[in-house]
Amino acid sequence: MTATITAPSRQANFTGLKCKECGAEYEAQAIHVCEYCFGPLEVKYDLSQLAKTITRQTIEAGPNSIWRYRSFLPVETNTPIDVGTGMTPLLKANRLARQLGLKHLYIKNDAVNMPTLSFKDRVVSVALTRAQELGFTTVSCASTGNLANSTAAIAARAGLDCCVFIPSDLEAGKVLGTLIYGPTVMAVNGNYDQVNRLCSEVANTHGWGFVNINLRPYYSEGSKTLGYEVIEQLGWELPDHIVAPLASGSLFTKIYKGFREFIEVGLVADKAVRCSGAQALGCSPIASAFSEGRDFINPVKPSTIAKSIAIGNPADGVYALDIARKTNGNIESVNDDEIVAGIKLLAETEGIFTETAGGTTIAVLKKLVEAGKIDPEEKTVVYITGNGLKTQEAVQGYIGEPLTIEPKLDAFERALERSRTLERLEWQPVLV
Ligand SMILES: *Cc1c(COP(=O)(O)O)cnc(C)c1O
Ligand SMILES: [Zn+2]
Repeated sequence: MTATITAPSRQANFTGLKCKECGAEYEAQAIHVCEYCFGPLEVKYDLSQLAKTITRQTIEAGPNSIWRYRSFLPVETNTPIDVGTGMTPLLKANRLARQLGLKHLYIKNDAVNMPTLSFKDRVVSVALTRAQELGFTTVSCASTGNLANSTAAIAARAGLDCCVFIPSDLEAGKVLGTLIYGPTVMAVNGNYDQVNRLCSEVANTHGWGFVNINLRPYYSEGSKTLGYEVIEQLGWELPDHIVAPLASGSLFTKIYKGFREFIEVGLVADKAVRCSGAQALGCSPIASAFSEGRDFINPVKPSTIAKSIAIGNPADGVYALDIARKTNGNIESVNDDEIVAGIKLLAETEGIFTETAGGTTIAVLKKLVEAGKIDPEEKTVVYITGNGLKTQEAVQGYIGEPLTIEPKLDAFERALERSRTLERLEWQPVLV
């Protein structure tokens, strides 16, 4: 009698890796830099083949996660690590829109992404699924905080060993939100760019799968789902304008790639989408290059409360610049006070508590509207990429205090009266 061996079901549309600079092609291994020109490698797909079979209906019938777009992601397995990542709400933000003078504003809310409340769960779900396919048993990353949370959580779920590297000055919530999953955590005395350099050396010597280094071509593809979901959630339509935060610039370039792919396979009608990027003034190498008309990035030393996007030497900076320019978008920066105001504005108008990266994006949105760089008529989507509970330090001291009272009705009445007086004083227009 012969046993029937059922091979794991594999069906992939990606055909390998390709250098973004010189076009050299490679097998789909754990490599990220071109041997010839040191350019970054990107995943290549056979989209013409995919266009013959993919339909809106097959996508809609898929799981309620990023894996409904599996045909566009660089994995072979039919059983990826699915922890419910993706399909976060796209909210029509009417109160914020009115406040800013816009008509059609939407928030893509990855502050509630699963499992660790940031957009990084998308890239890590893809990277770790691919890491398993490539045979890695230990996974790692260089992180500004959210990536460490995601890598540690999803590695735990997948049963992978995990060692993550972070700058030693991160917010308490980001550190705790990594440690809880039981990985090895290396807190490096240095900024992200120094952590990243160290990790490149470790990747060469330890044979680990670094999600954003040797697995970066696969990792970065996960961000395309932020483009796909917005198209699907707008009723299979492209927006007119998007605003997204920039750290390495990867997320921004991949949202754009996601839009182009859905156009190319015929899932959505072509339309020019303006792509605008947001940086914190204390770490704004891409915004500076944009405003100075340069096509190269001068690295900077970060100094901002927006630690999650504080990358002084952004790997995909020039590609982000190119997209902002060719789509008639903008890249703008805002200072730390504006970031805090952005966090409060989004919370008070839409009930969404975002972290510093989201505060940066909202503040840049406001700045662009005030400068006439976003038209009120444009259907605009703002990407909120992380959760405010992880960066509580940033708003401490700017949001008032609870009114502490005795458990008595008259104590409550007096406190209420006092708070109303305070409110009146606070909002009193200055009379000359
Ligand atoms: C990592 C991160 C980003 C941007 O990442 P890229 O390196 O530009 O892809 C944006 N927002 C948050 C909250 C992040 O953690
Ligand atoms: Zn090359």
